[in-house]
Amino acid sequence: MSWETVVGLEVHVQLKTRSKIFCACPTTFGDPPNTNVCPVCLGLPGALPVPNREVLRLAVRAALALGFAVERDTSVFARKNYFYPDLPKGYQITQFDRPLALLGSLEILSPERGRVAIGITRLHLEEDAGKSFHDRVPGMTAVDFNRSGVPLVEIVSEPDLRSPAEARAYLVALKQVLEYAEVSDCNMEEGSLRVDANLSVRRPGAALGTKQEVKNMNSFATVERALILLRDRQIATLESNAPVALTTFSAATGELRAMRTKEESHDYRYFPEPDLTPVSVSQAGIDVVAERNRLPELPAAKRLRLARDYGLSDYDAAVLSGTRALAEYYEVVVGSGAQPKVAANWVLGSVLADANEHQGRFRVLPARLHELIRMVEQGTVSHQAAKRVFGEIAEQDAPPANVAQRLGLVQIGDAGQLDGWITTVLQSHPGEVRRYRQGEAKLLAFFMGAVMKESGGRADPKRVQSVLRERLSGQAADR
Ligand SMILES: [Zn+2]
Repeated sequence: MSWETVVGLEVHVQLKTRSKIFCACPTTFGDPPNTNVCPVCLGLPGALPVPNREVLRLAVRAALALGFAVERDTSVFARKNYFYPDLPKGYQITQFDRPLALLGSLEILSPERGRVAIGITRLHLEEDAGKSFHDRVPGMTAVDFNRSGVPLVEIVSEPDLRSPAEARAYLVALKQVLEYAEVSDCNMEEGSLRVDANLSVRRPGAALGTKQEVKNMNSFATVERALILLRDRQIATLESNAPVALTTFSAATGELRAMRTKEESHDYRYFPEPDLTPVSVSQAGIDVVAERNRLPELPAAKRLRLARDYGLSDYDAAVLSGTRALAEYYEVVVGSGAQPKVAANWVLGSVLADANEHQGRFRVLPARLHELIRMVEQGTVSHQAAKRVFGEIAEQDAPPANVAQRLGLVQIGDAGQLDGWITTVLQSHPGEVRRYRQGEAKLLAFFMGAVMKESGGRADPKRVQSVLRERLSGQAADR
């Protein structure tokens, strides 16, 4: 009998504001340690938090993009009490029983189940903690409070995911939506998007099993790998008739390392934050309807529209809608008259490969790509030659026709010249000519290759083929 895997994800996303959530310190990443700090984010006695309105606006925007209704006008900040060196106040300001938004949803492309809607339990605001550096000096831990008070939203999914691969697909889709909505840069190397994952296994239809958690991962590959390890361990445990222990793991080194078990699990003693009044979206002057109207077309809608309007496969449409910039580039190329499928092949091939090697920049202007596509259609250059031209104009912008000319890549379709090359080839292969005429039609490819070689690759293959057919079918003096 098989096992069913159940995964839920908690994702912490840094909102793109210039200053922190409760003080005016900058959120800049990579500044010297402990330079972007003040009494508020250091938790000094008597310092009072002042909410940043832009944090609330971006959080509302994130919630709307993730299908939350945001009907709750008022949410409440709470203190989550625990002791850790990177938390100078001894508590984190977060939201507990009255979060900003409840019940959202995200459509993902599951490798196993196709398109599925994954429920999102809640989205709430909180402040980030500082960052600990262990063993920079052996045996010592250092703390940088620049990150203390950086604004986060925590997005908690329902246990709707059914495999490690689906968890990854959810994270990809979530990151896309947040990037489209421009609420976070989602820079994972800088820790702007961090994931806690929990997993349990059960017999299909049975009640949920005991879940185990892996904390604080900042790469989707790590999440997927950790969940695979966790799933396989749990199945092995249950098949040996042992119980699964309630354990929390870290996956920092690529392996699972147990951090704490049930006995040591925390009681955070949440209570409403006495230094902050409840948060009212309307009283902060945020117009939810206007924010919703200002959202761009989101990835799922764009994917459907690209597939429908341009006759693309679901896969191609999904890759093209991966970022707003890529989809926009594609639509400019098609808008200038390129055939949609041909344009998609170019954008998903040469354009994307080049952009990935150059920090996501599109170095060939869409209009230039369209010119190049037209040159291939008209037989001026071969597809292979066009790829070389693309490489050249990526380095230095120029009209593709000039570049093809300069590199000697323009195909020759002139009847006189083609005839010359074809005559030479047919005269030097009388045996093959005879066999072709006796019915060995596959020799056409051999002649094509020989003529292309004779022309130094410059002959227009379409015309060569038609002239060859004509000459070989005639009883001309080629034998
Ligand atoms: Zn501060």
